[in-house]
Amino acid sequence: MRLDPKIPSGPLEQKWDTRGFEYHLVNPANRRKYTVLVIGTGLAGASAAATLGELGYNVKIFCLQDSPRRAHSIAAQGGINAAKNYQNDGDSVFRLFHDTIKGGDFRSREANVYRLAQLSNLIIDQCVAQGIPFAREYGGTLANRSFGGAQVSRTFYARGQTGQQLLLGAYSSLMRQVARGTVTLFPRRELMDIIVEDGRAVGILCRNLISGLAEAYNGHGVVLATGGYGNVFHLSTNAMASNVSAGYRAFKKGAGFANPCFVQIHPTCIPVSGSHQSKLTLMSESLRNDGRVWVPKKQGDAREPTAIPEDERDYYLERKYPSFGNLVPRDIASRSAKEVCDQQRGVSETGQAVYLDFQDAIRREGLETIRQKYGNLFQMYQKITAVNPESQPMMIYPAVHYTMGGLWVDYNLMTTIPGLFAIGEVNFSDHGANRLGASALMQGLADGYFVIPPAMGDYLARLGPVELPAINSPAFKEAEETLSRQTAALLKNSGSKKKGLRTVEHYHRELGKTLWDNCGISRNRRGLEVALARIPEIRAEFWDNCVVPGSGSEFNQSLEKAGRVADYLEFSEIMVRDALERKESCGCHLREESMSADNEAQRDDDNFSHVAVWFSQDDGKNASMEREELSFEMSKPSTRNYK
Ligand SMILES: Cc1cc2nc3c(=O)[nH]c(=O)nc-3n(C[C@H](O)[C@H](O)[C@H](O)COP(=O)(O)OP(=O)(O)OC[C@H]3O[C@@H](n4cnc5c(N)ncnc54)[C@H](O)[C@@H]3O)c2cc1C
Repeated sequence: MRLDPKIPSGPLEQKWDTRGFEYHLVNPANRRKYTVLVIGTGLAGASAAATLGELGYNVKIFCLQDSPRRAHSIAAQGGINAAKNYQNDGDSVFRLFHDTIKGGDFRSREANVYRLAQLSNLIIDQCVAQGIPFAREYGGTLANRSFGGAQVSRTFYARGQTGQQLLLGAYSSLMRQVARGTVTLFPRRELMDIIVEDGRAVGILCRNLISGLAEAYNGHGVVLATGGYGNVFHLSTNAMASNVSAGYRAFKKGAGFANPCFVQIHPTCIPVSGSHQSKLTLMSESLRNDGRVWVPKKQGDAREPTAIPEDERDYYLERKYPSFGNLVPRDIASRSAKEVCDQQRGVSETGQAVYLDFQDAIRREGLETIRQKYGNLFQMYQKITAVNPESQPMMIYPAVHYTMGGLWVDYNLMTTIPGLFAIGEVNFSDHGANRLGASALMQGLADGYFVIPPAMGDYLARLGPVELPAINSPAFKEAEETLSRQTAALLKNSGSKKKGLRTVEHYHRELGKTLWDNCGISRNRRGLEVALARIPEIRAEFWDNCVVPGSGSEFNQSLEKAGRVADYLEFSEIMVRDALERKESCGCHLREESMSADNEAQRDDDNFSHVAVWFSQDDGKNASMEREELSFEMSKPSTRNYK
C-alpha cells in the first residue's frame, strides 16, 4: 500500500512513546558511517542537521542562500505555540491538540497532531537552554500572548522577531556541529533532482549557484526541509527564494503530494498597491490581540478613518463572532475581509483593504505599553506606507502566506519514497486545511529537533551497512542529462532578437493572477475550470517566448528563477485539479457551492474526510489521486464555531 500512515497502536497519548520504543537504534560508534543529506537550513533543516550531527551522523546540509541564517524562517514574526500553561488559563497538551485539529477543520491526522502538542513544551525548554531571548514577565517567567483560534495565551515570542531568534539558536547549534566536523555546509546550492536507486533515495543533484555547475551528492538518507510554495501565486508574504521545486521534483520521482490546494491566506498584510510589486508584507497576527478590525458601515465612504464616528463603523469580526472577535482563525478573518470589500465597504484607493485600529488599546494601556508589544511592527508599517499606526489605523488585506499542502509523509515523516523524508513546511504537515498562527515554528522545530533524529536512526538501522552508489552511476548520470536538457531549453532565447519575447517575471505574474482570481480566497467550479484551461496556455507561451539572459555556467539569477517558474507552471495544474476535486468547503478551502444558510463554509465529512494525495505519472503529467482516509478517536469532527 502506497499510503500507509504507519500510526503506532495504543492510546493517543502513548503513541509517540510506543513508537520511540519500537524504533531500531544505530550504535553510536556506527553513526559516522552513515551520510545524511539535509536540504534547507530554515528552522526545520537547521534543527534536524544540528541534532543528527550531535548524534554523530555524517551530515551534509544545503541551502540556496549564502548563509543558513537567511532562510525564510527568519521572517517569522509573531511567535511559537506551546502548552506550558504558564498563564494558568486552562491550557493543556490536550487543549493545544484539540485547537489545532479543530483549527485545521478536521483534515489532519490525529496521531501527528497529538505528538506535536506533546513536543511543544520540549521545544520551549530546548530554546530557553540555547538562550533564545523570549519575552518575559516582570517576575522573570516567560510571557505569552494570544493568537487566532485559541482562547488561551500560549504563544511564546521575542518581540516581532521570533523566527529570527529561533533561527539564530538553531544556527548556533548547527555551526557548533560544523566546527566539530559532523556537519558540512553547502550554501548557494539548489537541489535540482532526487536520485532514486533500487527504490530508495540515495542522493541529490544540485546546481552550484555561483559556478552554474552540476554537483552530485550521495547519502544513505535524504531530508527535504525546503519550505512552502506560496510564491506559486507570484505575490505572497514568503521570501523571494521560497519555491516548490524540491518538493515538485520529488513528486516527479514518485513521492505523493498531499492536499496541494490547501493554501493559507493571511488576513493582516499590507495591501497590493500596484503591478510593480514582487512581494507582499505580513503584519503579524499578534497585532489582532489589541488591534480592532473595521470598515465603514456605509458603502464607498471616503472620509479619513479618524473622521468616521464610532456608530458609523462596523467592527465586523466582533459583530459576527462575539466569542473570538478579532482573534478568529485566519481563514475566517480573510473571508470576512473579502466579503466586506465585495460589499463596496473596503477602504484605500483600491477598495481592497480594511482597517486595523489601535486607538482603543492605546487609550486603555497607554502608548508606551503598545509600543513595547508591537514597536518594530509599527515601524515596519510606517516605513512601507508612510502612515503612523499610532495615530491612524493600519490598512490591511489578505495575502497568500503558508501552504498546508506538501509532500505526503507517514507518522515517521517519510515520503512514499523510502529514505526520503520531508520536514517543516514542505510536508503536508499537521495543520489540515488551515494552520493556526504560531504553529508552523512549533511544527518545524518538533520535526527537526525531536522527530527526525530517531525516525532517521530507525530507517538507517533497518537499512544496515550498505555501500553508497557511486556519483557517476546511471541514475546520477540520467539526472545530469535531464538537467542540462532543461537548462538548454530555458536558455534557448538568450541573445535572440525574436519578437514577442517576455521576461520570466511576466509569466510568473500571469500565473499568479490566474491562481489568485480562480483558486484564491474562494473558489468555484467555473473559475477553477478557467484556470485549468489557462495554465497550459501560459506554460506553452513560457517555453516559446521566455527570455533568460546569460548562460548556464555562471551565476545567473534569471536562470534560477526560470527553473522555479517552470515548476510552478506544472505544479499549479495539480493544485487547481485538487481544488476542483474537493467539492466541500473546509478551512482555507472555500468552495462557493458548499456554503451553509448563514454563509459559512460547509464541510462534507461523508465524502471528503481524507487527505488527497497526488502521484505523478509520465514525468509529472496526468497525475492521479489516492486518498488517505482520516479517522478521529479523540476529537469528534464538529462544525467549527467561533461565534
Ligand atoms: C512573514 C511570515 C511570518 C511568519 N510568522 C510566523 C510566526 O510568527 N509563527 C509561526 O509559527 N509561523 C510563522 N510563519 C510561517 C513560518 O515562518 C514558516 O512556515 C517556517 O519558517 C518554514 O520553515 P522551514 O524550515 O520549513 O522552511 P524555510 O525557513 O522556508 O527554509 C527553507 C530552506 O530550504 C532551502 N531551499 C529551498 N528550496 C531549495 C532547493 N531547491 N535547493 C536547496 N535549498 C533549498 C532554502 O534555502 C532554506 O534554507 C511566518 C511566515 C511568513 C511568510
